[in-house]
Amino acid sequence: MPHRSSVPASWRLQENRYSLVGTTCECGECHMPGRRVCECGNEKLESLEFCGLGEIVSYTTIHVAPAGFSGPYHIALIRLEEGPVVTGIVTGDDISVGKKVKSVFRRLYTDGQEGLITYGFKFELM
Ligand SMILES: [Zn+2]
Repeated sequence: MPHRSSVPASWRLQENRYSLVGTTCECGECHMPGRRVCECGNEKLESLEFCGLGEIVSYTTIHVAPAGFSGPYHIALIRLEEGPVVTGIVTGDDISVGKKVKSVFRRLYTDGQEGLITYGFKFELM
């Protein structure tokens, strides 16, 4: 019987947080986040590291930031070059639909005054 992992969720999710890794199927579909089963029914998916380039499909500006974030900032739907659409924070002010972005590794938020700093991907206007 396989041993069940007891590693904390934050640790298990690291692969997704520190690199843009999803899955790809032989039918040509790419998924981000990764999946166990493709739309075509195939369950033998391979992991795929995305190149990090994409285009803004839609966005909104958050003026009142939640605790730990500093506002205002932009949240966008980004179509990655490989096809999937992901949600991410976009840095820079000159944002508009159709602009090209690339993923960059940045501080995402701070938990509390002297709290844990969480790093991950943001997108930068190109
Ligand atoms: Zn498929």
